[in-house]
Amino acid sequence: MSNDEPLVVAEAPKGNLPHGRINPRSSIPFFAIHLLPFLAVFTGITWTAVWLFMATYWGRMFFITAGYHRYFSHRAYRTSRPFAAVLAFGGCAAAQKGPLWWAGHHRMHHRYSDTPTDPHTPRKGFWWSHVGWILSDDTSPVPEGTMKEYSDIPEIRWIDKHDWVAPWSLAVACFLIGGWSGLLIGFFASTVLLWHSTFLVNSLAHVWGTRRFDTTDTSRNNFVIAVLTMGEGWHNNHHRYAHLARQGLYWWEVDASYWVLCGLEKLHIVWDLKRPRPEWLEAKPAQTEADLPVPD
Ligand SMILES: [Zn+2]
Ligand SMILES: [Zn+2]
Repeated sequence: MSNDEPLVVAEAPKGNLPHGRINPRSSIPFFAIHLLPFLAVFTGITWTAVWLFMATYWGRMFFITAGYHRYFSHRAYRTSRPFAAVLAFGGCAAAQKGPLWWAGHHRMHHRYSDTPTDPHTPRKGFWWSHVGWILSDDTSPVPEGTMKEYSDIPEIRWIDKHDWVAPWSLAVACFLIGGWSGLLIGFFASTVLLWHSTFLVNSLAHVWGTRRFDTTDTSRNNFVIAVLTMGEGWHNNHHRYAHLARQGLYWWEVDASYWVLCGLEKLHIVWDLKRPRPEWLEAKPAQTEADLPVPD
Protein backbone atom coordinates (compact mmCIF):
# COMPACT_ATOMS: atom_id res chain seq x y z
CA MET A 1 0.00 0.00 0.00
CA SER A 2 1.16 3.53 -0.50
CA ASN A 3 2.33 5.30 2.60
CA ASP A 4 0.89 8.67 1.71
CA GLU A 5 -2.71 7.65 2.32
CA PRO A 6 -4.17 9.12 5.49
CA LEU A 7 -5.09 6.34 7.84
CA VAL A 8 -7.64 6.81 10.57
CA VAL A 9 -8.17 4.23 13.27
CA ALA A 10 -11.87 3.40 13.22
CA GLU A 11 -13.82 3.86 16.41
CA ALA A 12 -15.54 0.71 17.60
CA PRO A 13 -19.33 0.95 17.30
CA LYS A 14 -21.04 2.18 20.42
CA GLY A 15 -22.56 -0.62 22.47
CA ASN A 16 -22.59 -2.28 25.84
CA LEU A 17 -19.75 -4.69 25.13
CA PRO A 18 -16.33 -3.69 26.48
CA HIS A 19 -13.41 -3.51 24.06
CA GLY A 20 -11.45 -6.70 23.53
CA ARG A 21 -14.43 -9.05 24.05
CA ILE A 22 -16.23 -11.23 21.55
CA ASN A 23 -19.91 -10.59 20.86
CA PRO A 24 -21.52 -13.87 22.02
CA ARG A 25 -24.77 -13.41 20.09
CA SER A 26 -23.29 -12.56 16.67
CA SER A 27 -20.70 -15.34 17.14
CA ILE A 28 -23.31 -18.13 17.36
CA PRO A 29 -23.20 -19.01 13.61
CA PHE A 30 -19.40 -19.23 13.75
CA PHE A 31 -19.45 -21.77 16.59
CA ALA A 32 -22.48 -23.65 15.20
CA ILE A 33 -20.71 -24.24 11.87
CA HIS A 34 -17.95 -26.06 13.79
CA LEU A 35 -20.52 -28.64 14.91
CA LEU A 36 -22.21 -29.26 11.56
CA PRO A 37 -19.54 -31.60 10.07
CA PHE A 38 -20.21 -34.06 12.94
CA LEU A 39 -23.64 -34.71 11.43
CA ALA A 40 -21.73 -36.75 8.81
CA VAL A 41 -21.99 -39.69 11.24
CA PHE A 42 -25.57 -39.95 9.95
CA THR A 43 -24.85 -39.35 6.25
CA GLY A 44 -21.50 -41.13 5.87
CA ILE A 45 -18.63 -39.58 3.91
CA THR A 46 -18.71 -40.21 0.17
CA TRP A 47 -15.77 -39.93 -2.22
CA THR A 48 -17.55 -37.05 -3.93
CA ALA A 49 -17.58 -35.22 -0.58
CA VAL A 50 -13.85 -35.87 -0.12
CA TRP A 51 -13.07 -34.44 -3.57
CA LEU A 52 -15.30 -31.44 -2.87
CA PHE A 53 -13.48 -30.91 0.44
CA MET A 54 -10.09 -30.83 -1.32
CA ALA A 55 -11.29 -28.58 -4.14
CA THR A 56 -13.09 -26.07 -1.91
CA TYR A 57 -10.22 -25.98 0.61
CA TRP A 58 -7.34 -25.38 -1.82
CA GLY A 59 -9.39 -23.30 -4.26
CA ARG A 60 -10.58 -20.91 -1.59
CA MET A 61 -7.17 -20.82 0.10
CA PHE A 62 -5.76 -19.55 -3.19
CA PHE A 63 -8.37 -16.78 -3.37
CA ILE A 64 -7.57 -15.72 0.20
CA THR A 65 -3.78 -15.76 -0.13
CA ALA A 66 -3.36 -14.58 -3.72
CA GLY A 67 -6.52 -12.44 -3.81
CA TYR A 68 -7.42 -10.94 -0.44
CA HIS A 69 -3.85 -10.91 0.83
CA ARG A 70 -1.32 -10.41 -1.96
CA TYR A 71 -3.59 -8.46 -4.34
CA PHE A 72 -6.11 -6.45 -2.30
CA SER A 73 -3.97 -5.91 0.81
CA HIS A 74 -0.53 -5.48 -0.76
CA ARG A 75 -1.00 -4.88 -4.50
CA ALA A 76 1.84 -7.33 -5.12
CA TYR A 77 0.85 -7.72 -8.78
CA ARG A 78 -1.58 -6.22 -11.28
CA THR A 79 -4.56 -7.70 -13.07
CA SER A 80 -7.64 -6.73 -15.10
CA ARG A 81 -10.79 -5.35 -13.51
CA PRO A 82 -12.82 -8.51 -14.31
CA PHE A 83 -10.20 -10.80 -12.73
CA ALA A 84 -10.00 -8.52 -9.67
CA ALA A 85 -13.75 -9.10 -9.30
CA VAL A 86 -13.17 -12.86 -9.62
CA LEU A 87 -10.55 -12.66 -6.84
CA ALA A 88 -12.96 -10.67 -4.66
CA PHE A 89 -15.87 -13.07 -5.20
CA GLY A 90 -13.68 -16.17 -4.73
CA GLY A 91 -12.29 -14.72 -1.49
CA CYS A 92 -15.83 -14.10 -0.21
CA ALA A 93 -16.55 -17.82 -0.72
CA ALA A 94 -14.14 -18.50 2.18
CA ALA A 95 -16.65 -16.82 4.53
CA GLN A 96 -14.08 -14.43 6.01
CA LYS A 97 -16.13 -11.29 5.25
CA GLY A 98 -15.55 -9.06 2.22
CA PRO A 99 -12.28 -8.00 0.54
CA LEU A 100 -12.44 -4.40 1.83
CA TRP A 101 -12.97 -5.56 5.42
CA TRP A 102 -10.29 -8.27 5.21
CA ALA A 103 -7.62 -6.22 3.46
CA GLY A 104 -8.40 -3.05 5.44
CA HIS A 105 -7.70 -4.82 8.73
CA HIS A 106 -4.66 -6.53 7.27
CA ARG A 107 -3.19 -3.17 6.28
CA MET A 108 -3.73 -2.03 9.86
CA HIS A 109 -1.88 -5.16 11.02
CA HIS A 110 1.17 -4.29 8.92
CA ARG A 111 1.14 -0.63 9.77
CA TYR A 112 0.79 -1.16 13.52
CA SER A 113 2.27 -4.68 13.91
CA ASP A 114 2.26 -5.86 17.50
CA THR A 115 1.30 -2.47 18.93
CA PRO A 116 -1.98 -1.78 20.78
CA THR A 117 -3.51 -0.57 17.46
CA ASP A 118 -2.76 -3.88 15.66
CA PRO A 119 -6.19 -5.57 15.25
CA HIS A 120 -4.80 -9.03 16.13
CA THR A 121 -1.47 -8.98 17.90
CA PRO A 122 -0.77 -12.09 20.05
CA ARG A 123 0.41 -9.66 22.72
CA LYS A 124 -3.32 -9.37 23.52
CA GLY A 125 -3.43 -13.18 23.90
CA PHE A 126 -3.26 -16.12 21.51
CA TRP A 127 -7.05 -16.60 21.39
CA TRP A 128 -7.57 -12.93 20.56
CA SER A 129 -5.04 -13.02 17.69
CA HIS A 130 -6.47 -16.30 16.34
CA VAL A 131 -10.19 -15.54 16.24
CA GLY A 132 -11.32 -13.29 19.12
CA TRP A 133 -10.67 -10.11 17.14
CA ILE A 134 -12.94 -11.27 14.30
CA LEU A 135 -15.82 -12.05 16.67
CA SER A 136 -15.52 -8.72 18.48
CA ASP A 137 -17.54 -5.61 17.70
CA ASP A 138 -14.26 -3.63 17.87
CA THR A 139 -13.33 -4.74 14.36
CA SER A 140 -16.73 -4.86 12.64
CA PRO A 141 -16.32 -1.75 10.40
CA VAL A 142 -13.70 -1.44 7.65
CA PRO A 143 -10.94 0.77 9.12
CA GLU A 144 -11.41 4.25 7.65
CA GLY A 145 -9.07 5.37 4.90
CA THR A 146 -7.40 1.99 4.42
CA MET A 147 -8.95 0.80 1.13
CA LYS A 148 -9.60 3.96 -0.88
CA GLU A 149 -8.27 2.68 -4.21
CA TYR A 150 -10.73 -0.26 -4.24
CA SER A 151 -13.75 1.09 -2.39
CA ASP A 152 -14.66 3.32 -5.36
CA ILE A 153 -14.91 0.39 -7.79
CA PRO A 154 -18.65 -0.44 -8.02
CA GLU A 155 -18.36 -4.21 -8.52
CA ILE A 156 -15.84 -4.57 -5.68
CA ARG A 157 -18.07 -2.51 -3.40
CA TRP A 158 -21.08 -4.65 -4.35
CA ILE A 159 -19.24 -7.93 -3.75
CA ASP A 160 -17.94 -6.65 -0.40
CA LYS A 161 -21.41 -5.48 0.69
CA HIS A 162 -23.03 -8.78 -0.37
CA ASP A 163 -20.26 -11.01 0.97
CA TRP A 164 -22.79 -13.77 1.81
CA VAL A 165 -23.65 -14.48 -1.86
CA ALA A 166 -20.46 -16.43 -2.68
CA PRO A 167 -20.39 -18.81 0.34
CA TRP A 168 -24.12 -19.53 0.07
CA SER A 169 -23.77 -20.24 -3.65
CA LEU A 170 -20.88 -22.60 -2.95
CA ALA A 171 -22.84 -24.38 -0.21
CA VAL A 172 -25.78 -24.93 -2.57
CA ALA A 173 -23.41 -26.19 -5.30
CA CYS A 174 -21.80 -28.66 -2.87
CA PHE A 175 -25.26 -29.94 -1.90
CA LEU A 176 -26.34 -30.32 -5.54
CA ILE A 177 -23.11 -32.16 -6.44
CA GLY A 178 -22.59 -34.29 -3.34
CA GLY A 179 -25.87 -34.35 -1.39
CA TRP A 180 -25.84 -33.98 2.42
CA SER A 181 -22.35 -35.49 2.68
CA GLY A 182 -21.15 -33.01 0.06
CA LEU A 183 -22.62 -30.12 2.06
CA LEU A 184 -21.36 -31.23 5.50
CA ILE A 185 -17.84 -32.27 4.47
CA GLY A 186 -17.31 -30.58 1.09
CA PHE A 187 -18.48 -27.21 2.35
CA PHE A 188 -18.72 -26.96 6.17
CA ALA A 189 -15.73 -29.10 7.24
CA SER A 190 -13.63 -27.48 4.54
CA THR A 191 -14.72 -24.01 5.71
CA VAL A 192 -13.77 -24.74 9.33
CA LEU A 193 -10.30 -26.00 8.36
CA LEU A 194 -9.87 -23.06 5.98
CA TRP A 195 -10.75 -20.60 8.75
CA HIS A 196 -8.29 -21.99 11.26
CA SER A 197 -5.46 -22.43 8.74
CA THR A 198 -5.86 -18.78 7.72
CA PHE A 199 -6.11 -17.63 11.34
CA LEU A 200 -2.87 -19.46 12.20
CA VAL A 201 -0.99 -16.87 10.15
CA ASN A 202 -2.20 -14.18 12.57
CA SER A 203 -1.68 -16.22 15.73
CA LEU A 204 0.91 -19.02 15.47
CA ALA A 205 3.06 -17.35 12.78
CA HIS A 206 3.68 -14.56 15.31
CA VAL A 207 4.62 -17.05 18.04
CA TRP A 208 6.17 -20.28 16.66
CA GLY A 209 8.91 -20.47 14.02
CA THR A 210 12.22 -18.92 13.03
CA ARG A 211 13.11 -15.30 12.37
CA ARG A 212 15.37 -14.63 9.38
CA PHE A 213 14.92 -10.86 9.60
CA ASP A 214 15.10 -8.85 12.77
CA THR A 215 11.84 -6.98 12.14
CA THR A 216 10.18 -4.79 14.76
CA ASP A 217 7.25 -7.23 15.07
CA THR A 218 7.07 -10.83 16.32
CA SER A 219 6.57 -12.51 12.88
CA ARG A 220 8.00 -15.99 12.29
CA ASN A 221 8.70 -18.33 9.36
CA ASN A 222 6.87 -21.65 9.78
CA PHE A 223 6.96 -24.55 7.29
CA VAL A 224 3.76 -26.25 8.54
CA ILE A 225 1.71 -23.09 8.19
CA ALA A 226 3.25 -22.47 4.77
CA VAL A 227 2.02 -25.87 3.53
CA LEU A 228 -1.47 -25.39 4.99
CA THR A 229 -1.83 -21.87 3.58
CA MET A 230 -0.12 -22.19 0.18
CA GLY A 231 2.87 -20.09 1.23
CA GLU A 232 1.65 -17.69 3.89
CA GLY A 233 3.75 -19.34 6.62
CA TRP A 234 6.89 -17.42 5.55
CA HIS A 235 5.49 -14.64 7.63
CA ASN A 236 8.78 -13.14 8.82
CA ASN A 237 9.87 -12.85 5.16
CA HIS A 238 6.49 -11.28 4.45
CA HIS A 239 6.71 -8.69 7.22
CA ARG A 240 10.14 -7.71 5.87
CA TYR A 241 9.03 -7.57 2.21
CA ALA A 242 5.25 -7.12 2.41
CA HIS A 243 4.97 -5.78 -1.15
CA LEU A 244 6.23 -8.99 -2.84
CA ALA A 245 4.06 -11.52 -4.68
CA ARG A 246 6.48 -14.20 -3.49
CA GLN A 247 6.77 -15.01 0.21
CA GLY A 248 9.00 -18.10 0.15
CA LEU A 249 12.36 -16.56 -0.70
CA TYR A 250 14.24 -19.86 -1.29
CA TRP A 251 13.23 -22.76 -3.53
CA TRP A 252 12.59 -24.96 -0.50
CA GLU A 253 10.29 -22.37 1.08
CA VAL A 254 7.11 -23.80 -0.45
CA ASP A 255 4.84 -21.05 -1.78
CA ALA A 256 2.08 -22.65 -3.85
CA SER A 257 0.14 -19.38 -4.28
CA TYR A 258 3.18 -17.84 -5.94
CA TRP A 259 3.58 -20.84 -8.23
CA VAL A 260 -0.08 -20.55 -9.32
CA LEU A 261 0.39 -16.79 -9.85
CA CYS A 262 3.39 -17.56 -12.11
CA GLY A 263 1.11 -19.83 -14.17
CA LEU A 264 -1.53 -17.09 -14.41
CA GLU A 265 1.22 -14.67 -15.44
CA LYS A 266 2.13 -16.96 -18.36
CA LEU A 267 -1.53 -16.86 -19.40
CA HIS A 268 -1.44 -13.01 -19.17
CA ILE A 269 -4.21 -13.03 -16.55
CA VAL A 270 -1.95 -11.30 -14.00
CA TRP A 271 1.20 -9.22 -14.59
CA ASP A 272 3.86 -7.04 -12.95
CA LEU A 273 4.44 -9.53 -10.13
CA LYS A 274 6.75 -7.89 -7.61
CA ARG A 275 9.67 -10.25 -7.02
CA PRO A 276 12.68 -10.12 -4.70
CA ARG A 277 15.98 -9.00 -6.18
CA PRO A 278 18.54 -11.82 -6.48
CA GLU A 279 20.74 -10.30 -3.79
CA TRP A 280 17.86 -10.52 -1.33
CA LEU A 281 17.69 -14.29 -1.91
CA GLU A 282 21.37 -14.56 -1.09
CA ALA A 283 20.97 -12.62 2.14
CA LYS A 284 22.51 -14.45 5.03
CA PRO A 285 19.88 -15.74 7.47
CA ALA A 286 21.24 -13.73 10.39
CA GLN A 287 21.16 -10.46 8.48
CA THR A 288 19.19 -7.70 10.16
CA GLU A 289 16.72 -5.31 8.62
CA ALA A 290 19.25 -2.46 8.74
CA ASP A 291 21.64 -4.43 6.48
CA LEU A 292 19.09 -4.89 3.71
CA PRO A 293 18.33 -2.65 0.76
CA VAL A 294 15.17 -0.58 0.90
CA PRO A 295 12.44 -2.28 -1.20
CA ASP A 296 11.06 -0.52 -4.29
ZN1 LIG B 1 1.68 -10.65 10.72
ZN1 LIG C 1 0.39 -9.09 4.65
